[in-house]
Amino acid sequence: MDLPLQISRLLEYGRGVHGRSEVVTWTADGARRTTYAEVGAQAAQLAHALHDDLGVVGDQRVGTFMWNNAEHLVAYFAIPSMGAVLHTLNIRLFPEQLAYIATHAEDRVVIVDSTLVPLLAKSLPQMPTVEHVVVVGGGDAGPLEATGIPVHRWEALLSGKPTEYDWPDLDERDAAALCYTSGTTGNPKGVAYSHRSIWLHSMQVCSPAAFGLTTHSRELAIVPMFHAMAWGVPYAAFMAGASLIMPDRFLQAAPLAEMIKSERPNLAGAVPTIWTDLLAYLDSHPDADVSSLKEVVVGGSACPPALMHAFSERYGVEILHAWGMTEMSPLGSVSRTPALVDGQEAWNYRYTQGLFPASVQARIVGPLGDVQPNDGQAVGEVEVRGPWVTARYLGDDVPDPDKFRDGWLRTGDVGTLSADGFLTLTDRAKDVIKSGGEWISSMDLENHLMAHPAVLEACVIGVPDPRWDERPLAAVVLRESAAVTVDELREFLAGRVANWQVPERWAFIEAVPRTSVGKFDKKVVRAQYADGALD
Ligand code: ADP
Repeated sequence: MDLPLQISRLLEYGRGVHGRSEVVTWTADGARRTTYAEVGAQAAQLAHALHDDLGVVGDQRVGTFMWNNAEHLVAYFAIPSMGAVLHTLNIRLFPEQLAYIATHAEDRVVIVDSTLVPLLAKSLPQMPTVEHVVVVGGGDAGPLEATGIPVHRWEALLSGKPTEYDWPDLDERDAAALCYTSGTTGNPKGVAYSHRSIWLHSMQVCSPAAFGLTTHSRELAIVPMFHAMAWGVPYAAFMAGASLIMPDRFLQAAPLAEMIKSERPNLAGAVPTIWTDLLAYLDSHPDADVSSLKEVVVGGSACPPALMHAFSERYGVEILHAWGMTEMSPLGSVSRTPALVDGQEAWNYRYTQGLFPASVQARIVGPLGDVQPNDGQAVGEVEVRGPWVTARYLGDDVPDPDKFRDGWLRTGDVGTLSADGFLTLTDRAKDVIKSGGEWISSMDLENHLMAHPAVLEACVIGVPDPRWDERPLAAVVLRESAAVTVDELREFLAGRVANWQVPERWAFIEAVPRTSVGKFDKKVVRAQYADGALD
C-alpha cells in the first residue's frame, strides 16, 4: 500500500498511543508538566487558530522564535500537519541575518516566547512578509506592538478551539519544515524537509543503531529546537513515546545539573561545549547527581576523546559520538561499536564519527573529484546522499556546484572511511591548516590539547606565515586555578603529533568564542589573530 508518510499521522499516533508520555518544561520556578495527549490537543487548537483566525493556508510559512518547551513542540506538529511549513528561526542570529532568513522564507506568522520579545522586536520591522505575531506566555509585548504588526496571545488564540482537526491529505513529498544552516562558515542557507524525509529520518533516530528511543526513554533535549531540527528528537520522541525534558532558556551547567537530578533523564544530546561546561560543574559540585544518565549523544563538533573518558570513568555516562549537518536532517553517522570488540579497540571506534545507516551512502572524494578507497587512509571530502539529505538549497533552481556533485552533497568535511564503514573526520575543509604543502588537522591538535589536565578548551586555527603559508595557532583556555607554560604544552604535543605540526604561536584566553549553536567560532578567533600576531 502506498500510504503517504505525513506528520499528522505521527501526531495522531503519538497523542493516542503514547498519550501519557510526558513533556517537562523547565521554568524559573521548576518543572511544568504536560503530556503527549495534551500536546496533541493543543496542536489541533493551534492549527484552527492559524487557519481560522490568522488565515494561514496552503504551504505558507510559519516561523517559531522559541526555546525548547512544550509550546514549541505543539508548533512542530501543528504547522506541518495542517499543510503549512514550520520555519525554526535561530534566535541567536544577528538581527540582519534573522530578517534575511524570515524574508527569504516568506514567513507570514511568527510564534515567539514572551522572554524573546525584545530580541524579535529588533528584527521584526525588517521582516516585511510577517503579518501576525503570536506571543506565548505572559509578559510585555509592547516592543512588538510598537511595530504596528498585529500581536496575538497564544492562550487567547487557542482558547475554546476544537481539540480535533481534520488534517488534510498531503503529498508526502510536500515541504513540512525549513531550517537554515547556522552559518558557521558563511551566510545561512535554507534547507527544506519533506513529510517523507522527516518520517524516515525519525525511524532512524529511534533505531537502536542510532539513539534507541523507546517508551522508557526520558530524553533531556538540550539541542535548541532552532538548530538542525534539534537532531530529529522531537518527531522521533513522538514516534517512540519517549518523554522529553525541555530546558527552555536554562542552558547553563547549574540548571542542567538540577534538571538531571530532579527529572532523572536517561538520555540527552548536545554539542561538546555543553558537556565540557557540565563536566567542570559536576567535578566541583559533589552534591550533583547524574546517575540516571546512561548515554548521551554528542555531535555538532568533534567530541574530544578526553571528554568521553571523563564522563565514562567518573560518572558512568557513555558518550555516543554522532555526525551530521542541517543539510542531512541532520543525522548521518553514529559511533556504536561493532560486535566482538572491547577494551581500547572499542574506544578507538567510539572516537570516530561513526557508521552510516543503510539509507545514507557516503564516499570520500579527492581534490580532483576522484573517489577514494575506503581504506581508513585515503583522505578527502566526505560526500553523502540519501532520502533525508537535501538535493539543493531553498530558492536555488539548480544545485549549487560548490555544494553538490552528481547527486551527492559535498559536506565540506574532510576525513577517511574505513573498510568496515566508519567515518573519521580530520577537519572541516575550511579549518584545515595548510603548512608547507602539508595538511595539519586543527581537530587533531585540539583533541590532544584538551587531553592535558590543565586545559579546559583549545581552539586551533591557521594563521598566515611568510615561509609556510599557514601555521597553527593554539588558543587555550585553562581550567580554574590550573597553570601550565607554552613549553610544557609544546612538549605534551610533541609526543603525540609529528614535530612539524606543533604550534609555535599560542594564546591563553578566557573563553573560546561560540557560534549561535554553541560551537567554537573559528571565524571570530581568526579575525582576532588575522595577522598571526599575539596580544
Ligand atoms: P554549521 O555548518 O553552520 O555549523 P551545522 O550545525 O549543520 O551548521 O553543522 C554541520 C557541521 O558540523 C558538519 O559539517 C561538521 O563540520 C560539524 N560536525 C557535526 N558533527 C560533528 C562531529 N561529530 N565531529 C566533527 N564535526 C562535526
